[in-house]
Amino acid sequence: MPSLFAKIIRGELPSDIVYQDDLVTAFRDINPQAPTHVLIVPNKFIRTVNDLTAEDEQIAGRLLLVAKKVAEQEGIAEDGYRIIINCNRHGGQEVYHLHMHLVGGRAMGRMLR
Ligand code: AMP
Repeated sequence: MPSLFAKIIRGELPSDIVYQDDLVTAFRDINPQAPTHVLIVPNKFIRTVNDLTAEDEQIAGRLLLVAKKVAEQEGIAEDGYRIIINCNRHGGQEVYHLHMHLVGGRAMGRMLR
């Protein structure tokens, strides 16, 4: 069963893709928590941060570099933004295909409430 995000990456589900390359895809969150809320996802299926291996080093690095690129594209780089990765139950992960949230466009407040 391909994950929900795998279907988005392959174009089998509608989404608003803002960036895609050989390793990662970035698309707008369907339920945005800020004026800019983009998910950056590895094209390869990796379930959680816990499942990353040394082989995935390039993918892990690309996720961060694409976050920077999308922040510039969205015009939020200068004011700033937040990057979040949720892992498993205590992290509040809902979709089990590793993804990074890029949120900004307003002051994000304290990190944890
Ligand atoms: P997480 O809690 O870190 O697993 O976040 C999952 C995120 O995926 C949530 O912010 C959802 O709003 C988002 N999401 C779920 N389904 C879709 C979808 N079809 N397209 C875009 N974002 C989605």
